[in-house]
Amino acid sequence: MAAIKLDMPVQYVKGVGPARAVQLAELGIHTVGDLLTYYPRRFDLRKQVQPIGSLRGGEETATVAGEVFSTHEKPHGRLPYFECCIRDPSGWAAVKWFHGRYLRDSIKEGIQLAVSGKVGVYEEAIQFINPRFQIIWDPAGTDLSQDELLPVYPAGAKLSSGAIGQIVKKVLPLAGELIAEWFDGEYLSGRELMPRPRAVAAMHRPEDKDHWGSARRRLAYDECFLMQLGIAISRMKQVSRPAHPLPSSPEIDRRIRARFPFSLTKAQDRAIKQIVADIVRPRPMNRLLQGDVGSGKTVVALYACLVAVANRKQAAIMAPTEILAVQHYERINQYLAGSKVRTALLVGGQNPAQRQEILAGLSAGQIDIVVGTHALLGEDVRFGELALVVVDEQHKFGVRQRTGIRGKGFAPHYLVMTATPIPRTLAMTVFGDLDVSVIDSSPPGRGKTTTKIAGQTDLPMILRAVRQAIDAGQQAYFIYPLVSPSPELEFTAAQEAYRELGSCGPLAGAPMGLIHGQMPQRLKDRAMLDFREGRTKLLVASVVVEVGLDVPAANVIVVMHAERFGLAQLHQLRGRVGRARQDAICILVASPGSETARRRLAILEATTDGFKIAEEDLRLRGPGELFGTAQHGLPELKVADLLEDFDLLRLARKDAFEVVAADPGLNAPHNQQLRKEMLAAYAGRLDLLEGA
Ligand code: ADP
Ligand code: MG
Repeated sequence: MAAIKLDMPVQYVKGVGPARAVQLAELGIHTVGDLLTYYPRRFDLRKQVQPIGSLRGGEETATVAGEVFSTHEKPHGRLPYFECCIRDPSGWAAVKWFHGRYLRDSIKEGIQLAVSGKVGVYEEAIQFINPRFQIIWDPAGTDLSQDELLPVYPAGAKLSSGAIGQIVKKVLPLAGELIAEWFDGEYLSGRELMPRPRAVAAMHRPEDKDHWGSARRRLAYDECFLMQLGIAISRMKQVSRPAHPLPSSPEIDRRIRARFPFSLTKAQDRAIKQIVADIVRPRPMNRLLQGDVGSGKTVVALYACLVAVANRKQAAIMAPTEILAVQHYERINQYLAGSKVRTALLVGGQNPAQRQEILAGLSAGQIDIVVGTHALLGEDVRFGELALVVVDEQHKFGVRQRTGIRGKGFAPHYLVMTATPIPRTLAMTVFGDLDVSVIDSSPPGRGKTTTKIAGQTDLPMILRAVRQAIDAGQQAYFIYPLVSPSPELEFTAAQEAYRELGSCGPLAGAPMGLIHGQMPQRLKDRAMLDFREGRTKLLVASVVVEVGLDVPAANVIVVMHAERFGLAQLHQLRGRVGRARQDAICILVASPGSETARRRLAILEATTDGFKIAEEDLRLRGPGELFGTAQHGLPELKVADLLEDFDLLRLARKDAFEVVAADPGLNAPHNQQLRKEMLAAYAGRLDLLEGA
């Protein structure tokens, strides 16, 4: 057999023929390298004693111990056997040994016996067939020492964990020479990392739990490191493009601040300082501006736009929906009333003549700030000198679409605004190539929002309270979740509620609007506008597209079937209210029988800290959902768990960024292994190393 290499097909491993190779391929194992990195899901302690009552059958193997309370022999026939039954405080099991007649002298009623083997079920009782056994004195004090760690691999339809283990065993001795080390000894010892070849081997055959833990830590580090290396390189590439430097001055600062009828909060000032420091450089800013709804992000973004305008350059603000674009546009025009700054709105529904005029103004540099929707990404949209792009509400994590608006030649500075609190883990991964500014306090004089969890039976009372609020001049939202994947049903829930609420009960006759996902955009916009301008007092909604909608008189929000929303999403919803001086209330109505869900909702009752909520949400939903890393163009993580391994992630990030700062193209001789790993991990998805 030729020398084994990592990329050698598994079929050429001794004992693996074409049939096995097909079965392995079904598990994604194609090469020797795949086999070596197909790690056990867990380890069974071969000799650890389990309560009999905890066994269900279907477990691979188990060890139990108890008193023998009956014995039985079947001496004749094709398969003579000896059987005994043992019991421990939790249950009993039958144990059979075929051709086990010789056991009758040693295994007798009343003795204590430990058996270890495959767990089966026969006539609804647990049974062991031909297990290993040991006669013991006392099951509690038994010396079943030297627990053996038995690797349990994720099995295939035709390939058991044991069979996989056998195959792995054949290549494992080669790990030492096949698995390449990425770092030198000093690097490793400084971080208390185990050598990589040893770590791969120990993942399959650890000496004990600590040994396995160290191996896992090393490989998790490597995964984080590789991911961060890609992010570091991508970032380096972004910032290596030329951008218009946008210097500010005390005079510019003074004139911009004079535009706002309030003084900026400390948090706003801090974010502005960071932005100003970024855009003064001839390299594009890549910054995420994060803060709860109403914390004043738009004001900060406008400040940045005005620095661009002061430098005789253009700025664009992109919002996810037309109504939000209009809201920004109107707000900005209020601030800029009486100034010489020229603004324009570019959205989908404008007539061709209007659109042509705006496009001409943009390309001639006669418009300073343009606010718009995705319409800004149109092929025919050209700018004279675009220096800054602000993207609002990127809550869908669509950061990588950002390449859309591009000026000619120079890269614009880039600011993403989001009201979704982004957990630290995401800030380092999915958003890892952005700098982050956080606005962590709201402008003064805001009312307080109280959150209450209620049940269906509280509804009559809630409706009466809403009626009172409306009569007192306030407005309210009624939110319904997507109740089913079917759009018709979604329609029904909100529609029916709309009819019912309007025709009977305390809210009958109140001016009411409806908005749901099946409505044409035009009607949605009308419903939002009616609500915003106070023509309707109650808005029944089945979709919450307009996350940034600002209606100061709306101080009540009722969320039905609240348990169906994610915590972060509910926090967003709650942000619809409490936008003025009055106190606001958010009522989360949980469906009956959702006790665990209620406990989850209690987090919202307890805190208004969006970051805490986001972290909790992430913890509860598990990282899988948010860390579909592949969908963000990042390599898949097999070992690392970004929540558990947060410190490791942070270390790997710092290390990776240092490596890239010193050698952006990974051209140095000692970085060649990393370069190879990078190319394999990102396999053409990002042309990261080209031209770096
Ligand atoms: P966000 O974009 O974060 O939702 P906005 O910038 O739209 O927040 O601000 C929300 C509201 O608060 C707006 O009505 C705005 O005029 C007001 N606002 C913003 N900053 C301040 C401030 N420093 N002091 C008082 N009011 C402010
Ligand atoms: Mg906003």
